[in-house]
Amino acid sequence: MSADRIVVTSGDITRLAVDAIVNAANERLLGGGGVDGAIHRAAGPELLAACRAFPEVAPGVRCPTGDARITPGYRLPARFVIHTVGPVWYGGAQGEPAALASAYRSSLNLAAAHGLRSVAFPAISTGIYGFPLPMAARIAVTTVAKSLAQHATLERVELVCFDNDALSCFASALAALRDEDAD
Ligand code: ADP
Repeated sequence: MSADRIVVTSGDITRLAVDAIVNAANERLLGGGGVDGAIHRAAGPELLAACRAFPEVAPGVRCPTGDARITPGYRLPARFVIHTVGPVWYGGAQGEPAALASAYRSSLNLAAAHGLRSVAFPAISTGIYGFPLPMAARIAVTTVAKSLAQHATLERVELVCFDNDALSCFASALAALRDEDAD
């Protein structure tokens, strides 16, 4: 069962020695606040240079919402950083749920294409971008489980929560998914 390869943890994602950590980036890929800032600080200036090298696909856009890009991890314990862009929450009728699912799916497609086995995600879009945590957690666990079912080489996906609210939402969402799978 693919949900068995998902774990919910808490802590600072920049400290994890996994194959790749995912960055909740913005479309410019030039760094920002929240987890993006923490990842750039921990990885060092080479990370910004690598991000800048991605071509713009539209003015100012190096990675459209829902898509992902991969770079080395530089000074991070993680070998790679997968930069994905989650949606800004505008109330939920602007395609936000589908865009968030796409961010998780694109990140794992890229991880699988690079032969990576362990990937850690922050709670994409739930900080500055304002996506409600309970819905974001449900979308994260269901989308990751579907991707894991398609990619046998991915062994472990860690959903890293930075505070207790996130931890309780992600833990409940994963428990609910396991209950559904057991039925
Ligand atoms: P977004 O713009 O996608 O909302 P944020 O960085 O503002 O991105 O927040 C995404 C999530 O990452 C939030 O739940 C925030 O609490 C969490 N976060 C912030 N710093 C870290 C960190 N060092 N490790 C793991 N998660 C973090």
